[in-house]
Amino acid sequence: MNRWNIPKWLEQEIRERDTSCVYCRCEFVSSAGKGSHASWEHVVNDATIITSENIALCCRSCNSSKGAKPLAVWLESAYCKRRGITLETVADVVRSVAVAPTLCP
Ligand SMILES: [Zn+2]
Repeated sequence: MNRWNIPKWLEQEIRERDTSCVYCRCEFVSSAGKGSHASWEHVVNDATIITSENIALCCRSCNSSKGAKPLAVWLESAYCKRRGITLETVADVVRSVAVAPTLCP
């Protein structure tokens, strides 16, 4: 268990799946350890939902921008508009649309 109460096996599964930010699709420096800019994200902001569908990895800037906002509200924010983040560009886990990862600007 890490500090988000995510069991080790689930953490492993998510780290292997989310090699880039689930929102802006920037690639993480590394999936684990130092150099990583990944942070844990609850897609639905409820820390009691510990499933691979609700737990994802996103970059620190997306995480701090999104905060506790519901996804639909956050997608309307200036941050998402500036970075071109829409329901169509986010990861499968967030929205089942396959989009090739892009590098952070
Ligand atoms: Zn991001």
